[in-house]
Amino acid sequence: MKKHLLTIFIVLLIVGLVQAQDNKPQTGAEGLGDPYFPQLGNGGYNAEHYTLDLKWDDTSNRLDGTVTMRAKAYNDLSRFDLDFLGFTINSVLVDGKEATYKRDGRELQITPPATLKQDETFETAVSYSGVPGKGVPPFYDVFAEGWIRYDKGAYVASEPDGAAYWYPVNDHPLDKASYTFEITVPDAYTVAANGQLQTVVDNPDPTTTYTWETRDELASYLATVNIAKFTIQKAVGPHGLPIRNYFPPDKADALTKIFSDFPNMIAFYETIFGAYPFEAAGAVVIDSSLSFALETQTLILFGKDIAVGRTGAQTVIAHELAHQWFGDSVSLSQWKDVWLNEGFATYASMLWMEHSVSQAAMVKQMDQYYSIVVAQGSKYAAPANPPQDDLFNDGVYLRGAWALHALRLKVGDKIFFNIMHTYYDHFKYGNASTGDFTSIASQVSGQDLEDFFQQWLFDEKVPAKPDQVFLP
Ligand SMILES: [Zn+2]
Repeated sequence: MKKHLLTIFIVLLIVGLVQAQDNKPQTGAEGLGDPYFPQLGNGGYNAEHYTLDLKWDDTSNRLDGTVTMRAKAYNDLSRFDLDFLGFTINSVLVDGKEATYKRDGRELQITPPATLKQDETFETAVSYSGVPGKGVPPFYDVFAEGWIRYDKGAYVASEPDGAAYWYPVNDHPLDKASYTFEITVPDAYTVAANGQLQTVVDNPDPTTTYTWETRDELASYLATVNIAKFTIQKAVGPHGLPIRNYFPPDKADALTKIFSDFPNMIAFYETIFGAYPFEAAGAVVIDSSLSFALETQTLILFGKDIAVGRTGAQTVIAHELAHQWFGDSVSLSQWKDVWLNEGFATYASMLWMEHSVSQAAMVKQMDQYYSIVVAQGSKYAAPANPPQDDLFNDGVYLRGAWALHALRLKVGDKIFFNIMHTYYDHFKYGNASTGDFTSIASQVSGQDLEDFFQQWLFDEKVPAKPDQVFLP
């Protein structure tokens, strides 16, 4: 009996010690465990909403203002980080009280005046000013521009890590949040951002404030603010979906024609993937030649070079639109799996070609892609294994698209489109990994696809080209 009591006492002591350990306030991690980009994002909390109240000066390209993040603590937090590069910080408040902070590379380490309690919502407000990117060397050697001044205004393109170059943020797709943008600009300019325009207020000084708000959460690299003179072109998509396009005024007529199939593309993708995920759709075209387009959520960013060649333009538009499902709604869990964005969007644009032109046209294009992949040899990475310093390797796009095409040819159309639809439905508004996709494919098809995916997604050697014979 005595021994028994002693055991109970020891057990209680251990439980007490473990609890004490658990209750000890923690320091939020400086990353979210992404194997390729360990310092992207931060641990210890989940961002729920950002309010970006920023004033832009067109002569200096300075931003001035306050960014507020509402977040929930995962555990008791004595300190936490945001990702933020450049600028002069004027103050950091947590729940309205002054916090101390330290900067270390990408990390803005914030110590609130009192420990944040587990599961409690808190609000951090960072006031800052400066020219975005000024004096800041690229942190990771990848494509990411952040906030860019060009001769007609400013645009934002942040994939994968550029958001921290213009606002303090938990900068990883694992922590999506909703946004309010309150952007003040000189009167001559218009502001286009994600979501829907709420108000336009003409201020007493010669500035105007545009407030945009998103209904749905988005990954930080998909947040965009575009400032220029624009002509707004409106259309209506399936089920009354508002479409608003922001075009350079002197190119608005030509671009209206180029984007005329946009509602039909949405309707087509809805039949094969599922309902369009967001509250609005559209494009912003920058009056500057960009060498890329970016699937910024609900407002896709294009350069004016999109207007070159109607056939090519349709493929690019279809690609970026497909990202609203794959990349924006179904987000990556880790950047290494970027083929889940790019291979899917590339193949989706081929499906649009098949639907809007002909199956023969699509087959011919896929033949060409296969020849390119083989000709490029080891320069093209296996889709699910791109090098860390070359995330957007062309193998991710073309061989990634071929992996899906080969899957379709193997399992037949009915099962393939069931896989695509099921995968989307399962992971929409969330995050997914390559393993999530391959498991869904195996479950839905009832086939052992392990060797197939090993060869198409991971092996360096390009698999033999299957006959392009479509099974029902
Ligand atoms: Zn893409």
